[in-house]
Amino acid sequence: MSEPSTRPVPGQLTFTAPRRGKPPRHLADLTLAERGEVVGELGEKPFRAKQLSTHYFEHLTADPEQMTDLPKAARARLSENLLPPLLTPVRTQSADRGDTLKTLWRLHDGALVESVLMHYRQRSTVCISSQAGCGMNCPFCATGQAGLTRNMSTAEIVDQVVRAMAAVTERHGGDRRALNVVFMGMGEALANYKAAIGAIRRMTDPAPEGLGMSARGITMSTVGLVPAIDKLAAEGVPVTLALSLHAPDDGLRDELVPINTRWKVGEALDAARRYFEVTGRRVSIEYALIRDINDQAWRADLLGDMLNARGRGWVHVNPIPLNPTPGSKWTASDPAVEAEFVHRLRAHGVPTTVRDTRGSDIDGACGQLAAAP
Ligand code: SAH
Repeated sequence: MSEPSTRPVPGQLTFTAPRRGKPPRHLADLTLAERGEVVGELGEKPFRAKQLSTHYFEHLTADPEQMTDLPKAARARLSENLLPPLLTPVRTQSADRGDTLKTLWRLHDGALVESVLMHYRQRSTVCISSQAGCGMNCPFCATGQAGLTRNMSTAEIVDQVVRAMAAVTERHGGDRRALNVVFMGMGEALANYKAAIGAIRRMTDPAPEGLGMSARGITMSTVGLVPAIDKLAAEGVPVTLALSLHAPDDGLRDELVPINTRWKVGEALDAARRYFEVTGRRVSIEYALIRDINDQAWRADLLGDMLNARGRGWVHVNPIPLNPTPGSKWTASDPAVEAEFVHRLRAHGVPTTVRDTRGSDIDGACGQLAAAP
């Protein structure tokens, strides 16, 4: 069983994840060529790597019984070595009449993470975790308050998507393109950069190397790790970037998003603008509206000015009504105040859409994932 991380003191940032036993090797950690090498070392023909990968990334199964194109003895050996179980479901809770499903997973070492699958009429979105816990310590976020337990591996991140894809293909008549992925579950994915970019590559690599998803269907959300944003822009995989801003002024953002003590609002917005220039992808600004804290009309005006100072048409804003978290004194803004905030941004010509919050009654909404057993 994993030891829970210690609660951080206010403002404390944790970048280095505690070292723990590595998760078992899984084919989603490897390129197709690397899988071929492992298969060869196991005494099997390298083309078996492709067959195995097809089962996982195209048929979305890791069950050796279904791999009837592989000799029986090879099936067991190959799946033990390349498809070990990484995520064990502990429980699934449902809300919104079954359209929102939050699953708690146990990892090999007992660490717990959650993912949330949201079904809409034509499409579905899975909100995935990239770390058990989080080191960024935002005071309004339940995950941040719990501290960082450990980084997840590429395959642990990808397996959440593969399982969601299996659910989605059933629901949307086999249309794999109906799934979007957002890195908005537990963790700051850009603080676990290698595993996160590995997961993005596995999602976008054409099958059977990966899932063959379009980069535009993937959203990377970050507190604003400026060097990592620039690095991501240079990867040549134009995923959508979401910047968790929550305040347009450094005084308040230092408190709400402690990473602001390293990279200021202006630096984070400059990085977001560069991301747009390099990738051509419009950036989202996330802004949790917290009653009487960050929801004043003057802050909407200041945000509008700061975005427009960096150009037009490159950004849109997603206000999110604050979801309640245990021990927090803050609540969501008054609806009239929220409406005024949105109105002001739009008056500045900034496209603004309030995020619908799914799953708050099962603690499955933004900032509520705490993976309590
Ligand atoms: N570490 C990443 C992903 C975190 S969760 C990031 O910070 O971007 C995704 C979004 O939910 C972030 O914008 C986060 O700030 C926001 N969020 C966190 N707690 C929230 C809460 N209680 N209510 C509403 N949104 C919240």
